[in-house]
Amino acid sequence: MKNCLIWFRNDLRLDDNHTVNLCLKNNYKVLPVYIIDESIPIGSSSKWWLKNSLKSLNKSMNNNLLIKRGNSTEVLERLIQDYEISEVCWNARYSKEEILQDSIVEKSIIKHGLRVNIYHSTLLRNPSETLKKDGAPFKVYTPFYKQKYSDVKYESHQYDCAKLEYLSLQEDKNSDFLIDNFLPDESWHQKLNKIWDPGENGASKRLNSFLSDGLKGYSEDRNRPDLPKTSMLSPHIRFGEISIRKVAESIQDDNSHDSEIFYKELVWREFSYHLLYHFPHLTNDNLQKKFDSFQWENNQENIKCWRKGITGYPIVDAGMRQLWQTGYMHNRVRMIVGSFLVKNLLTHWKYGQEWFWDTLVDADIASNSASWQWVAGTGADAAPYFRIFNPITQSKKFDPDGEYIRKYIPELKNIPNKYIHLPSELDDKSLSEFGIRIGHDYPKPIVDLSVTRERALAAFKQLPKST
Ligand SMILES: Cc1cc2nc3c(=O)[nH]c(=O)nc-3n(C[C@H](O)[C@H](O)[C@H](O)COP(=O)(O)OP(=O)(O)OC[C@H]3O[C@@H](n4cnc5c(N)ncnc54)[C@H](O)[C@@H]3O)c2cc1C
Repeated sequence: MKNCLIWFRNDLRLDDNHTVNLCLKNNYKVLPVYIIDESIPIGSSSKWWLKNSLKSLNKSMNNNLLIKRGNSTEVLERLIQDYEISEVCWNARYSKEEILQDSIVEKSIIKHGLRVNIYHSTLLRNPSETLKKDGAPFKVYTPFYKQKYSDVKYESHQYDCAKLEYLSLQEDKNSDFLIDNFLPDESWHQKLNKIWDPGENGASKRLNSFLSDGLKGYSEDRNRPDLPKTSMLSPHIRFGEISIRKVAESIQDDNSHDSEIFYKELVWREFSYHLLYHFPHLTNDNLQKKFDSFQWENNQENIKCWRKGITGYPIVDAGMRQLWQTGYMHNRVRMIVGSFLVKNLLTHWKYGQEWFWDTLVDADIASNSASWQWVAGTGADAAPYFRIFNPITQSKKFDPDGEYIRKYIPELKNIPNKYIHLPSELDDKSLSEFGIRIGHDYPKPIVDLSVTRERALAAFKQLPKST
């Protein structure tokens, strides 16, 4: 019987995972390993998620998950020898740094005469295979979707994970102890414990509840942050706790418009990975080069107000406070706060990308980078720079009764619906009737929307015409 090492990374599940299937099909004895390697850093909220997800995976493997910390190549080389491993397998990752690390590891393993099996279980399709007919990568979502994803059927694999046979661990410390040691809890993590259920079980519960309560009406209501209509699967998908094939499969026989729109959102994620894979500088540089000469203001005081949710624009502040309190923000509000930061505050999108990277539980190298470039207008197929969201109009349209605002900014709870989207419009007397003093209980707007809009458009006009 051969010994096989499964190197887990962004695929923290047993179900419908090609690496696990390989071991079951061939009756391999398995050494499941996760390496905390700080050369590929993650944000604070992601660390909390990772910690709990690893504990959950370890539990479903009857405490057989081996956790290590250090340089991936060195750790794996040692384990291969200690456990007499003859095959290694993993699911591919797609950022420049991850691809480089994986290729170094692969070479070192092959040098030892071992076989390496690499799969693509974290995406619906391998991004190296979704090119245009002329062999170039797509830069526009719609043809990408139509040519590569519409009419595709998915089939997840069913197998009995209870039959996995594990190699006995030679290490003396148990994995949960190591996880706690490497990823210590911080006090603000307590609030996340109450909201989320990281791990494979939590992911599958989330999918089932979305299919029964969220999918119907999704196409319309997914834009409403005041309604619980989106799946909130993103952190589970980010850590691979649920197979993306399984998510797509779960809706493919339902011909409703809601299912189609939901599937298209899954394909936006694929598109982000397509961009990341083919344009690896997506994480750092403007995809449209003309923005390299853009004169950003990057006012540190304004950036601080944005992060803390004290800009004086309730929908922006509610979004930023939702992020801080829950590690998550509704997609529509991500677009609103993004537009406000980049266009009204004239801030480079990298400031937003970095804050989201640190605070989102679903912080994803591809989706976060591609979405920030989309919002800023600097990316492929991006919202044009001159399309500037008005946060008040957006707020009235998508949070009509101000329920989302009141949830995250309770100090505004007595303001009537008509004024909740911009309470600073009211005079001091009326405000005092509602128990609010602007500039005291809730801030004055930090910038004027029309002045900053004109300023952004003027700056945009200075750019060279070419990309
Ligand atoms: C500025 C900005 C930053 C973002 N950063 C991230 C990020 O770091 N990680 C992340 O997963 N998503 C990111 N998104 C995309 C989107 O906001 C989230 O995926 C979505 O809000 C997650 O909620 P949900 O699971 O309820 O989504 P649902 O509406 O239920 O969608 C289902 C799944 O589809 C995928 N998806 C949906 N919308 C998008 C999208 N626009 N782009 C890529 N994938 C999508 C997600 O995996 C999501 O879980 C970002 C969007 C913006 C505007």
